[in-house]
Amino acid sequence: MESSDLSDISTTLMGAHHVAISGHINPDGDCLGSVLALASALRICGIRADMLLADDGLPELYAFMPGYRGFRPASAYDGHPDLFVALDTPTPKRLGCSFPVMQRTPVTITIDHHPDMQDYADHSYCDVTAGAVGMMVWDLIELMGVTPTPAIATACFTALITDTGRFQYQNTTVSAFEHAARMQAAGAVPSQISREVYQNRSISCVELEARAIANIHFGDQGRLVYSWVTEQDFVQTGATRDDAESLPDILRSLRGVEVALLMREEGGTIRASMRAKGARDVGAVARALGGGGHAAAAGFTFVGTVDEAIERVVPMLFVGATADADTTAANRFVGATPTQLFAAINSKDTLDVPAPPDTPADPAIPSAPSPAATTPVCPRQVPTTSPASDRNVEQS
Ligand code: AMP
Ligand code: MN
Ligand code: MN
Repeated sequence: MESSDLSDISTTLMGAHHVAISGHINPDGDCLGSVLALASALRICGIRADMLLADDGLPELYAFMPGYRGFRPASAYDGHPDLFVALDTPTPKRLGCSFPVMQRTPVTITIDHHPDMQDYADHSYCDVTAGAVGMMVWDLIELMGVTPTPAIATACFTALITDTGRFQYQNTTVSAFEHAARMQAAGAVPSQISREVYQNRSISCVELEARAIANIHFGDQGRLVYSWVTEQDFVQTGATRDDAESLPDILRSLRGVEVALLMREEGGTIRASMRAKGARDVGAVARALGGGGHAAAAGFTFVGTVDEAIERVVPMLFVGATADADTTAANRFVGATPTQLFAAINSKDTLDVPAPPDTPADPAIPSAPSPAATTPVCPRQVPTTSPASDRNVEQS
């Protein structure tokens, strides 16, 4: 691998005849928008550009981006490009079915912003300060001498708005806003893109959200929230896999929460998404579990059940925890109702949470551990009978 700058990469691209471009598995707005934008720019330069999907799924959510139907599954791709570009994809594993295409391509490039990017290409460019790879692709397109079209601007703006969480996350820099302004000036319409991405939800998606909210549990004195959705939840609500993408942020949005964990059952494994606000680094936890990502947004795949994932992962998310930490002290709030937690957080007292009195004992669901408990296990919260209004206790 050679650490290249964007102008080297621009020169390499402009010398190519046939380029294949791919993002990562479970594609998101950043990788899809970045691939679309770069492919458009290359075609403007008369260079053939094939857009590959690392796995077979193409989220309908982003279908408004011009040229979207041009993506094709890498698993069925038999082309022989002379250049391969991986965007927003830090490891070969995340390239899924596109990796064999990369392996048979003579020259390879990666452009990424993940802190855990590996050296797996001939030319690599990584800027961890970039809010989205879509910003880097925007700069690259300018270096290629291409005037961005409205389609390119729309794709890059979609990448930027999704990876910065609508300009809310810590990666929302001055440069992110400057790029956004340039994209809008080139024809991206923020209100239309926001409407497509954020105001376009199916009722099934909202029903899935209700399931995730019903499963909300807290730990670590209310600083940690975790929840899950099961295969059955998807079947019963009619929600798609993509409909679960908004769930982690809903968990993180809760007052007092610093770390959120959302687990979804997917064919015998758990796909887990973590989100942090403040200084917590969930990327490190994800890497310890074989996954990856950023400090504030990361994920991993867990082989096992939801209960097993909770037992393994939740203790790792407590303040001060390490992979093998004894989290007994922090464990005392597991099993608290939201009302009890908010009251305790406000009073800054410690709280001994008893099992709710009217909940029948269920040997399958262990009750909340007492402060004296010695095991760092975080069982599910015993279901409570709190009315929904109890969940919205105001802090004074
Ligand atoms: P997600 O929770 O799927 O929105 O992903 C958040 C961040 O974590 C993205 O940067 C992903 O690339 C990364 N990520 C998610 N799942 C994994 C995984 N299984 N392995 C490595 N990185 C992951
Ligand atoms: Mn991505
Ligand atoms: Mn990204």
